[in-house]
Amino acid sequence: MKVISETDDLREWNRKTSDRRRVLVPTMGALHAGHLSLCDIARREAGANGDVVASIFVNPTQFGPNEDLASYPRPLEADLEKCKAHGVDLVFTPGAGAIYAENASVIIDETKLSSRLCGSSRPWHFSGVCNVVTKLFNLAQPDAAVFGEKDFQQLAIIRRLIRDLNFPIKIIAGPTIRESDGLAMSSRNAYLSEEARTQAPIIFEALSETISQISDGKLTASVAAVEHARKMIEKVPLAKIDYLEIFHSDTLEPLTGKFGNIKKIRIATAVFFGKTRLIDNVGIS
Ligand code: AMP
Repeated sequence: MKVISETDDLREWNRKTSDRRRVLVPTMGALHAGHLSLCDIARREAGANGDVVASIFVNPTQFGPNEDLASYPRPLEADLEKCKAHGVDLVFTPGAGAIYAENASVIIDETKLSSRLCGSSRPWHFSGVCNVVTKLFNLAQPDAAVFGEKDFQQLAIIRRLIRDLNFPIKIIAGPTIRESDGLAMSSRNAYLSEEARTQAPIIFEALSETISQISDGKLTASVAAVEHARKMIEKVPLAKIDYLEIFHSDTLEPLTGKFGNIKKIRIATAVFFGKTRLIDNVGIS
């Protein structure tokens, strides 16, 4: 497995391997089984003769001024071992200087899907994501890229980025990998106090139970379904809901009335436990 930090070296590697299918897995590191499942999907997509490229870059532009950029975990050596064990061929670990020009003045912004859900409480976030992902696509020039459904809104925005900027890249979604008690794996779970960690599984419990009641026809309208999930989450003392919404899985448009024959229903939430903000989502299809 090769490790490259400089963009010139990456270009050189691209040139040498241009006849092989290349699949990219962008990450911010502190890799867990969720990230590694994406590497496994990438390995299958690349095939025996292709290359899996993982990027590890804690992207400063997607963090807000009072967020955890400085303290975000960066266990690089352990991450490299994990990548190697999951069949990654190249890890790209750029410094911020390799990605952002000091006086950069061109910005990529998605203007429709980004303002809601996570975007309403973190208005800077998806601009940071769109810019870094565009740069990683341009630098790594992959044929395909794998993203997790755990970040459902991000996935929808990246599909939009691909469509609207004509990137010739296939986007593959990986399912959310969970701890045995249902909590979605996240690098930020490590910040939770012992008490918060025992309460956090309520997020998945509430979302999945609400979705199953919608599927069974027991919850037939959005307001009642949101209320049902909200009540479950608010029963645990440390949880503070940032948002909780039901929306159409393809358009991310809020569903406000009766579900009727709408099939693609997804519920998503962000919940604070102390300063740690956890997100999760569950859908019907
Ligand atoms: P991050 O390092 O948080 O930027 O995440 C990198 C990629 O891993 C993104 O595509 C995430 O959606 C994905 N990811 C994060 N957590 C999980 C999980 N629990 N299951 C599957 N994919 C995940």
